[in-house]
Parts: sequence; C-alpha cells; structure tokens
Amino acid sequence: MWTTQRLQRFIQTKLGDIRLVIVANRETYSHHYQGERIIVQRPPGGLVAAIDPILRCCHGTLVAHGHGDADRVVSDGQDRVHVPPEDPQYTIRRIWLTPEEMRGYYDGFSNDALWPLCHLAYTRPQFSAEAWEAYQRVNHRFAETVLDELGTEPGLVWLQDYHLALVPAMLKARRPDVLVAHFWHIPWPSYDNFRICPWRQEILWGLLGNDLLGFHIQQHGDHFLDCCDRELEIRIDRERNSVFHHGGIETMVRPLPIGIDACTIAVTAAAPESAAAREQWRGVLGISPAMKILLGVDRLDYTKGIPERLRAFSLMLEQHPEWKERAVFVQLGATTRAHIEAYRLLSEEVEGLVGEINAQYGTDRWQPIRLIRHNVSTDDLVPLYQIADVCVVTSLHDGMNLVAKEFVAAQAECRGMLVLSRFAGAAQELPEAILVNPFSDEHCAEAFHRALTMPEEDRLLRMEQMHETVMEQNIFRWASRSIAVMARLV
Ligand code: UDP
Repeated sequence: MWTTQRLQRFIQTKLGDIRLVIVANRETYSHHYQGERIIVQRPPGGLVAAIDPILRCCHGTLVAHGHGDADRVVSDGQDRVHVPPEDPQYTIRRIWLTPEEMRGYYDGFSNDALWPLCHLAYTRPQFSAEAWEAYQRVNHRFAETVLDELGTEPGLVWLQDYHLALVPAMLKARRPDVLVAHFWHIPWPSYDNFRICPWRQEILWGLLGNDLLGFHIQQHGDHFLDCCDRELEIRIDRERNSVFHHGGIETMVRPLPIGIDACTIAVTAAAPESAAAREQWRGVLGISPAMKILLGVDRLDYTKGIPERLRAFSLMLEQHPEWKERAVFVQLGATTRAHIEAYRLLSEEVEGLVGEINAQYGTDRWQPIRLIRHNVSTDDLVPLYQIADVCVVTSLHDGMNLVAKEFVAAQAECRGMLVLSRFAGAAQELPEAILVNPFSDEHCAEAFHRALTMPEEDRLLRMEQMHETVMEQNIFRWASRSIAVMARLV
C-alpha cells in the first residue's frame, strides 16, 4: 500500500536533490480576512486534494495564483508563504492577477472555452480573442515566476491542468535542461471536437514543450496524439505513445489515472466521532434511518449531469411508486464559476427542477429532493457518504471523478452502491459499479432502482472489489507512478 512515508522515501531515492516545483492555478491554502482576524482556507476540488500530500512529502514549491484577500499580507517580500500553517512543510510562491486578467485567463479562456471544448457535454465553447490574449499573458507570468524560482538550479517542473497549456513551451524555450511534465486533469477531445478551436496549433505546441504529458486514461492520450497528427508537422510513434518534434525531441504521453487519499477518508470514517456526525446529518436533513438515501456530490457544473439525474430520479418515482416516502435524493451543488452565463443558467435550471419535482411528489411528511447549495468540507462529507445507500455520479463527461472514489473509500462496511457514468474516467477502474449512460433518463432511473434493490451478496462483492481498488490505487501511488516516469527522464 502506498502511503505518505513510502512516497517520501521513493521521491528521495528517485529524485535525490532535484528541486520539484509544482505549478497550478489554484493554491492549496489561501488566507482570508474574517473581521480583524486572518483565517486559512483549503479550497475545495480534486486537484487540491491531490497535490497537497505530494508537496508535503517532498518539501517542494507550489507556484499558484494567490486569490485570498489576505494572501498578500501573510506573504513575504518574494510573495512566498510556508504551509500548512500549523506545521510548515512546503512553500507557496504566489502570483497576483488583476480582476481583468482573471476575467480573461480564468473565466474567459480556461473555463468558457477550454473546459467546454474538452468535455463533450454539448455546451458551446466561447472563443474570444481578448480572453485568449489574457490567457497567453498570464501563462507567460507563470513561466517567468517558475524560472525565477528555479534560478540556475536543475529542476523538475510539474504543471497541473488546463489553465497552463502554454507554459511548458515557454519554459523549454528558456531552460531546455529543465524537465517539464504536465498532468491534464480533464478529458482531451477527439479531433472533430478539438478542431473548432481557433488557437488549436498554439495549444498543441505549448503542450509539446513537455517531456511527459499525463492523462487519466489512454483514450484521452490517443485523442491528443490524433490532434497532433492531424494539425502539426511532427512524427507520432504509437507504440511508444510519443510525439517526436523539433528534430527528435520526444514528448511522452502516458495514462496516469489519479487516485484519492483513501486512507485518510477511511480513518475519518472509522473514527468514533463519525457516528455522531452521521446522526447529525440525519437530524439536519430530517431523514429517518428507514429512509433510503441517494446522494450526489458535485460543484454545480453542466458537465456533471445534475438536471439529468434529477429527472431520472423523478422518473423512478413515477415508474416505481413504492419509493415514494421511502427514498430521498440529497444533492450537493456549491456554486462555481458564477461569472459565466452557462453556470448561471444551470443554477436556475436546477433550482427550478427541484421545486417542480418536490411540488409534484412531495407530501406533508416527505420532500423527495434536498438541495444543499453550500460547499461541504471533506470531513463533513465522509459521514454523508457513509449514510448514503446509493452514490450517484452521472457526469456527462469527466476526466476521472474523485467523488466516486471517495464514496467507496468511506464505505468500509460496503453497505451502499455506486451508480457511475460510463463517460467518467473512474468507470475504467470501477467496472463493478452500476455503469450508466447519463444521457438516458430511462437508463438512469432503472439503475437507481437496481442499486436500491440489489441483493446483498452481489452488492457486497462489488463494493469490496471497488474498495480494494480505491485503497490500492490511491493518490500516493499516482504520484509515485508519475514521479517514476519523470525520474527515468532525469
Ligand atoms: N467537494 C467538496 N465539497 C463539496 C463538493 C465537492 O469538498 O461540497 C470535493 C469532493 O470531495 C471532491 C472534489 O470536490 O474531492 C470534486 O472532485 P471531482 O473529481 O469529483 O470533480 P471536479 O469538481 O474536480 O470536476
């Protein structure tokens, strides 16, 4: 089993004195004013959960956007702060972005163009020259800051995600000796989808600055190779999974499915306090132990298939009326990317749908859907995962989906069941889940009913297998596999 300690030893053996700099848009800790006081927050999201333990164990540096309103006050003269605050183990080097830069680079190009371009959720990408210009400018700022951090030292730079596609080539142009790796946390689209991007060649060349480019699954990597093949004068070696360019420079493309810190979740689940936390959730939601709970845990994002799953739940109530007053759908949906039109529309749609379904089926004693619109902390999520009978992950398209894995990790007694979209990367590692086509309400409604009525023996067998996979293929294993590939390049 991979643990923090094993990863730490592994990194020391494999990388020795080489400096590790991770680069991500989102910082792992942000500082905020609460009245006169300054508090520290850990932002939600899969990426933060993934990179914090890695940085802690290799005492590296994270270059990231400082977005907290007290970030500047707590940073030193070189925009650095040591974290975690209670026991500093690594450094965050913060980059400051203006509201206008954020509108262009983050809302505009990253989230209103690249995000819908890469997810097949039928939301049209918005391409704006102004946003693209800001994206280039901010990527340049990130590259300059990384170069400043490295000085003249050798180093390994590990970039995270779709906000930084141009940084690899910018780094290599100045420091060809530095090793550059990149993990793309979202899907990569097929060429037919990718070709609509006006700046597709620039993005591909940016990413070809990497020595290693990782995706969750082989299919995303294959799509990337196809796009390079169709757009650029390069050579693809399908056997090696590599692109050769600029007279023989190699960019390796590898599937590296990400995991979660499953052990921490299992320990939280097993702690004596968790029984009280479970009861507290039941109390807050007003759900008796006899009531079956279906649970969705998401940011409110149109790729997650939230309206689709609510409609499917309503259809299940229609087709299997025995679930009326016997099952509740609890949906978490914290607001994200609120400046973007598609997210505002989704929020209205979900609120409207919940109102309609509750009005149609609800009774004096029972509300079929509970919508929780605030972000719930990881510690509070674990008892919620534990009381759920069915976890519903019906993303229309998803790089991996960590919620599916977190639910399985929290369910040590294997009493629940997972309904999982075929179009989430996690489906490849968790085939024992009930796999669904999220675009079909009928298919999902039947899957919910099946999950609620699955014979115990079958359910246990499937959950035990998934539990083993999630515990073994954890975040530390993902980090070690990624570092092992990078170390071979060193
Ligand atoms: N999450 C959370 N609080 C919430 C909702 C979600 O902490 O109220 C976390 C969840 O535990 C998971 C992450 O956000 O770790 C979502 O990751 P996922 O891969 O499922 O989707 P993403 O949001 O990264 O697209």
